[in-house]
Amino acid sequence: MLITGPRGTKDILPGMSSSWQYMEKKVRDICRLYGFKEIRTPVFEHTELFLRGIGETTDIVSKEMYTFTDRGERSLTLRPENTAAVVRSYLEHKLYAESLLTKLFYIGPMFRYDRPQAGRYRQFHQFGVEALGSKGPAIDAEVIILAVQLLKDLGLTDLNLYLNSVGCPECRPVYRESLQDYLREKTEKLCTDCQTRFDRNPMRILDCKNPQCTEESQGAPHIVDCLCPECSTHFEQLKSLLTVAGIDFTLNPRLVRGLDYYTKTAFEIQYAALGSQSAVCGGGRYDGLVAECGGQSTPSIGFAIGLERILLTLEKQGLLPEVTNKIDVFVAPIGTEAQGMAFKLLCDLRKQGFTADMDFMDRNIKGQMKQANKYPASFVAIIGDDEVAQGKVMLKNMQSGVQELVDSSAVQMKIQVEMED
Ligand code: AMP
Repeated sequence: MLITGPRGTKDILPGMSSSWQYMEKKVRDICRLYGFKEIRTPVFEHTELFLRGIGETTDIVSKEMYTFTDRGERSLTLRPENTAAVVRSYLEHKLYAESLLTKLFYIGPMFRYDRPQAGRYRQFHQFGVEALGSKGPAIDAEVIILAVQLLKDLGLTDLNLYLNSVGCPECRPVYRESLQDYLREKTEKLCTDCQTRFDRNPMRILDCKNPQCTEESQGAPHIVDCLCPECSTHFEQLKSLLTVAGIDFTLNPRLVRGLDYYTKTAFEIQYAALGSQSAVCGGGRYDGLVAECGGQSTPSIGFAIGLERILLTLEKQGLLPEVTNKIDVFVAPIGTEAQGMAFKLLCDLRKQGFTADMDFMDRNIKGQMKQANKYPASFVAIIGDDEVAQGKVMLKNMQSGVQELVDSSAVQMKIQVEMED
């Protein structure tokens, strides 16, 4: 019986890899433009990092982690997200000592034991940025604008940016209490998850997808009305910076990051046509996380973009780049005598930077021409017994159909000249 890939994983087949490379190039280009440097951390970390860095009450930690014990009895976990690992690395390698503001980005696979469906996988890829060190709203705006510009550069339209503030350890407890006061009488009508959230993490009730919970929390107080002066000023300044930069956004009081070390700005970018998995980007400020991981208090902000969802969006909007296998030259030897000369020509062509291939399947000339057309190849270099005897190559320009006997030493020059015409 054939063994298939694990549930919730996807092979990126050759037909799709150029789309991934296209997307990754856009990511790298924009990060260069904004001065974010790449960081690559391991795909597994000590489990403890995620317990501290994401929080034990979250769905990710309580239900979705791939945790295993290695042969040395260590508890390790495949990373479900990358912020905690970036913070770990930032502290371990004292990146804070190199500059006041550290701007990092990453691209890579993440792992969550989630129920697979369109746009939700158990292994998926995120591009994310983290800016560590600045508390001002300008860096929030910079990070948000980077995400928006990337999506625009990919040609995507119909995306919505949602914005909220989740306050800080000073003002959030006040809000938490007024939210609990509002929901106390309604707890029985909430889903079982939200009933547990009521005490542990009541703000998460606001972003529960269960329609009954949405309805019950409909008239709940908004956190932006409870912000302390510092959080409120930060939020107002961020909004005006985004407005100045011409970025459209919608305020969404239900957007929360339910952990203590998430502070102030929370944002999400959605593409509604993706249905239930419409979030393509999620991010926010985490001023308390670096201290939680054992470092000095370091205000920070970041986001993560789900690359599979970007790809789905590109596909839906007809923006995937065309796949081409086009090569410059196909070398077609006829008979065993020609093999050596053909192989040498192939090697020389590649040394010169031409994309080239030849027949490795002992096909006859008809089969080889078919193969050359399939690529398609711009030129076919045919070498038979006569050509070997004369030290020449029959070079066929596949576009014009013209073929010409050329000295083997002059093939590359001839191709170069014709390609430039
Ligand atoms: P999060 O780390 O949960 O804030 O997610 C950030 C982004 O990663 C989301 O907006 C999605 O685009 C993407 N994402 C999260 N979980 C998954 C998943 N299981 N499968 C595919 N993409 C995901």
